[in-house]
Amino acid sequence: MVDFAVIGAGIVGSAIAWELSKYEADVVVLEKENDIALGATRANSGIIHAGYDPEPGTLAARYNVPGARMIPEIAADLDVHFRQTGSLVLAFSDRETQGLHALLARGQKNGVPGLQILSAEATRALEPRLSERVTASLYAPTAGIVNPWELALAFMETAIKNGVRLLLDAAVTGIGKEEDHYRLRTADGREVSTRFVINAAGAYADEVSALAAGKLFSITPTKGEYFLFDKSAGETVDRVIFCVPDELGKGVIIAPTVHGNLIVGPDAEPVADKDDTATDGARLAYVRSRALQVIPSLPFNDNIRNFAGLRAAADTDDFVIGFQAPGFFNVAGIKSPGLTAAPAIADDIPRRFAAAGYPLNRKAYWQGKRRIVRIRELPAEEKAAAIRANPAYGHIICRCETISEGEILDACRRGMKPVSLDGIKRRTGAGMGRCQGGFCGAGIVAILAGETGIDPLRICQDKAGSRLFAGRTKSAGGTDD
Ligand SMILES: Cc1cc2nc3c(=O)[nH]c(=O)nc-3n(C[C@H](O)[C@H](O)[C@H](O)COP(=O)(O)OP(=O)(O)OC[C@H]3O[C@@H](n4cnc5c(N)ncnc54)[C@H](O)[C@@H]3O)c2cc1C
Repeated sequence: MVDFAVIGAGIVGSAIAWELSKYEADVVVLEKENDIALGATRANSGIIHAGYDPEPGTLAARYNVPGARMIPEIAADLDVHFRQTGSLVLAFSDRETQGLHALLARGQKNGVPGLQILSAEATRALEPRLSERVTASLYAPTAGIVNPWELALAFMETAIKNGVRLLLDAAVTGIGKEEDHYRLRTADGREVSTRFVINAAGAYADEVSALAAGKLFSITPTKGEYFLFDKSAGETVDRVIFCVPDELGKGVIIAPTVHGNLIVGPDAEPVADKDDTATDGARLAYVRSRALQVIPSLPFNDNIRNFAGLRAAADTDDFVIGFQAPGFFNVAGIKSPGLTAAPAIADDIPRRFAAAGYPLNRKAYWQGKRRIVRIRELPAEEKAAAIRANPAYGHIICRCETISEGEILDACRRGMKPVSLDGIKRRTGAGMGRCQGGFCGAGIVAILAGETGIDPLRICQDKAGSRLFAGRTKSAGGTDD
């Protein structure tokens, strides 16, 4: 019997696990995939929103601004890439300039600090590549950029270091209510008995909630598609660029990434399939045409990858946060700004449980700091010292991103073993560069196989079943698989 079972290990479940790890409680996280952060958390804009967008009074507004305030310190403690870039919302007409004033008023109601309307000249002085058609902008200094899956991994690694247990490949398919606890069943027949359940299952949170009670809300995914540009385009803008929302939606975002690339997107298309992350030429063409209206010189020939993410939009039109039954707590419908809001939502959980009559005690000792060796970011002397101490840091595996064997081994030894090439990519950045893993993939498979004991033929690109290899071509007995 555990105290808490958290269902789902996206940014929300991971932040909650991290928060609960500060308390004297036995916590288990159940995640249906072979790694964490494989839902919306790995395919979004990576923006820490300042907080002028959500309607005042909504849960999204309540958690956005505190989340944005918490992220810089959390990123420093957990050694996660974060940059407080500030953001600009652009207007292209007098009507849109009015829209900026409405956003300013909303932001002030939500408690966003430092908001300012800038003239066209002041806007283009900050970002000279913007279209000359820009008429004004709303500047938000507290907006920033973060690597979303890196933040989730850092939360979960720290939670695990502090006693949380993570069960992977553990899709919850049954929830039974006993007298004073819940009994969770997974698709592969495992059972977990728990006093409390926290449902953080992203796009599937409505189905998980329905396992415990009737359907209280439903979630329709809205797909958003992106272009990711090479680092050669990374300095096109210094800040996050938005447009005033219009009848066609929020418009596309143009933003730097913490790794020095440029991200452009998304569009918004409701879809029926909760796993449909396929990209589509026509949708991408739409994103491209909208982005070119903002920056006519955007170098689309520097595009190195396209991807799509699914926003988990609940039919309540807001986050769904609260008890649905004694001991069963939903954190569902967490669409944008969920990445930003996640730490603030997590921070509130112990208070919500205490208010419901389940108080928690803080641990006397909690290890809250995390440090990662990143060879390419070290000054020459520190790099040399690191390589002297561990020669594997001197063996560069990913040449595009300068990631060493030592960093890949560290990633395998931080409490949550990756089992796929993309698991290494998310933890180290190896394979994220211009060649997208073309050169380093085979070397990484060999290291991963050595560390995990998994037969190299069975190592996946990503989720379970995404096999890289069909069989051996040069073994003595011919193909053997
Ligand atoms: C296109 C797009 C752009 C966005 N941009 C931003 C942005 O710039 N800034 C921002 O703040 N927010 C942004 N968001 C929102 C943000 O990405 C989400 O709010 C956040 O990632 C949601 O996290 P989550 O943990 O709730 O969901 P997820 O990351 O989807 O995690 C849910 C997890 O639950 C697991 N799961 C599901 N069912 C089960 C089950 N039965 N048993 C066990 N595990 C299960 C899934 O495998 C998954 O790992 C964006 C979202 C999208 C899609």
